[in-house]
Amino acid sequence: PGVLDHFEQRCRTSKALAQRTAEVIPGGVQHNLAFNYPFPLAATRCEGPYIWDADGNRYIDFLQAGGPTLLGSNYQPVREKVHALLDACGPVTGLFHEYEMKLAELIRQHMPNIEMFRMLGSGTEAVMGAIRLARAYTGRKWVIKVGGAYHGWSDQVVYGMRVPGTGRREAIGIPRGSTAYTQEVFPNDIGALRRKLWLNRARGGTAAIIVEPLGPESGTRPVLRDYNAQLRALCDEFGALLIFDEVVTGFRVGMGGAQGYFGVRPDLTVFGKCLTGGYLMAGGIGGGRDVMMLLAGGIGTGSRRAFVGGTLSANPLSCVAGYHAIGEMARTGAAVAAGRAGDRLCRGLNGIIDRLGLPYVAYNFGSIVHLQTSAVLLMSMRNPIKLMREHAARKHAMEEMGAAYLAHGILTLAGSRIYTSMADTDAVIDDALSRFEDVFR
Ligand code: PLP
Repeated sequence: PGVLDHFEQRCRTSKALAQRTAEVIPGGVQHNLAFNYPFPLAATRCEGPYIWDADGNRYIDFLQAGGPTLLGSNYQPVREKVHALLDACGPVTGLFHEYEMKLAELIRQHMPNIEMFRMLGSGTEAVMGAIRLARAYTGRKWVIKVGGAYHGWSDQVVYGMRVPGTGRREAIGIPRGSTAYTQEVFPNDIGALRRKLWLNRARGGTAAIIVEPLGPESGTRPVLRDYNAQLRALCDEFGALLIFDEVVTGFRVGMGGAQGYFGVRPDLTVFGKCLTGGYLMAGGIGGGRDVMMLLAGGIGTGSRRAFVGGTLSANPLSCVAGYHAIGEMARTGAAVAAGRAGDRLCRGLNGIIDRLGLPYVAYNFGSIVHLQTSAVLLMSMRNPIKLMREHAARKHAMEEMGAAYLAHGILTLAGSRIYTSMADTDAVIDDALSRFEDVFR
């Protein structure tokens, strides 16, 4: 309670804004990640590794808006290009713009598996489009996802669609029919996956397996090193397409994405977040020419086509931002620098945890760091059913930890996820570590 009182004192403007906001915005936030316990913080400025709130408090920004700002917040070289484009043609034209082409060419250069690319409005839309493409290409309907994975909020892959072992549904407002052809398997359970593929074969066949290549929720529950290669082999055996959801991992784990790291070639790749460096609409699908060409065909041409759309998709502003953001990530080696910061932070956190003898653990994949301080979660890692059942208790514990971090000047994603960026120098990480130590103590 002392920490929370102190926090409320320091963040009076945010609190007042949050109270007003709650009257006109459901839950007081437009963006799920903005829900910081005990109330959302209003941001006014950000630069490099830092973000400032409406009361002038500075935080080390490990939220990074959920992942897009690998270069650090408000990165000047990209911002200047965006300004120049805005001056020239405003945010949207409705016509083709050369940066759409340049962005697609640049992605292909870094991920040779991707021959063609289509820009959409968000990761959610891109997942919807990739599944539609897989069904159109294979002529099949079943889609298999890994339980606990987040692929956006469309009906068919909705997060937590079933609480395993209970028959209960977590998300409401989704008719059963919407998920009728979506199946879930537990991570790393290749046997169960193979059985599903077998059963589906007699029922028209599996169109696609969709995965987050690091494991559900960006590796919160990591998968084994050869899991993705095993999925590739199963997809080949059963004629299904492999969809990598690289919304988080694309460009963040390296210029080649998770597919480059694991050396596995998915048929379709879904992008978001880093794709535009955080500027506006960020979503896209990449893949081989034969599959991607099903998106071609103009209205009224009568050609066979998997339809996707979006008024603001591929607007010049997003494309110019993406082209220069990805270019800068390549030029600066942003993923490597951010990964080093993530490694240093993770090592430091585990050192503090060991020294203080706490039942916590930190693990990371480069710049994607997971910090688990909830005993419930740790006990449940081998027992996903228990994990899902106790999700609510865990969530609150994490939120309280998140509030304590905030009170000590650190912004995390829901108290358990940390994204590092290229702007996180050794000094920034060491400063963060001493703040984490204060919280743990
Ligand atoms: N897929 C993954 C792995 C994600 O983490 C997210 C968003 O966090 C999405 C898809 C959805 O992307 P968007 O929020 O752009 O709709």
